[in-house]
Amino acid sequence: MTKSTVKTRIMGIDFVNTTMSRFLSDSIEPRLQQEKQTFVVTANPEIVMQTRKDSAYKGAIQSSDYVVPDGIGIIKAASWLKEPLQERIAGFDLTLELLQIANDKGYACYFLGATEEVNAIAVQRVCEEYPNIPIAGRKHGFFDFSDEEIAREIAGTNPDIVFVALGLPRQELWIKQYKRYFDKGLFIGVGGSFDVLAGKVNRAPEIWIKLNLEWFYRLVKQPSRWKRILKIFQFMFLVLIGKGKKE
Ligand code: UDP
Repeated sequence: MTKSTVKTRIMGIDFVNTTMSRFLSDSIEPRLQQEKQTFVVTANPEIVMQTRKDSAYKGAIQSSDYVVPDGIGIIKAASWLKEPLQERIAGFDLTLELLQIANDKGYACYFLGATEEVNAIAVQRVCEEYPNIPIAGRKHGFFDFSDEEIAREIAGTNPDIVFVALGLPRQELWIKQYKRYFDKGLFIGVGGSFDVLAGKVNRAPEIWIKLNLEWFYRLVKQPSRWKRILKIFQFMFLVLIGKGKKE
């Protein structure tokens, strides 16, 4: 992890403790300008729980430059640990901010992941909403993850920002394994963000987010995700019984 930012450790994962706007202006924009390779993880309780049972995944997360707190569960856990985090930095919001920066500064973006249909529609929407973004390329996310050639091909497009929407743990593992093929680039795992960009999945309305009930909205809309929602409660329970600081 990059040393210059204040960090809050929860279950062995160091979260940046800052606001979205300061994170962008102090860390992300200078690194993009200097073409410094950067790996950003937007971690929710599910990601933290995954690191507890998968050491390769934990290694990937710990090898990143920045882990930002995505999800109210992380914010609550930090305050219970008496190390409050300044702001939630949601993965989807960060994606939109990065698209805006790319549009303003002309940074080339690559879009990797989701189904072919979702990927194509998402990139189409990006082109409409952010017409100045140079599209380095796009590829759906159903390929052989051990295929180095795919990474080489993407690296050949020389992107400034690579959005990787393969879901967890695939996206962070892919970034960890293949970013060395690239000369530069900001890499970020964005989960289901292409589905939201493509309009296939709706983000929770603002009021649900404000009430810290985004997880509940998702549960109502996609009941099949209940096992994943359960992970949030397992995480909160572990923090409450004192596991948060120990690892
Ligand atoms: N996905 C993908 N390749 C795969 C599995 C999933 O590109 O092998 C995509 C999927 O289509 C979706 C995104 O990854 O757009 C997130 O998937 P999921 O909701 O399963 O993951 P999570 O919410 O855990 O990030």
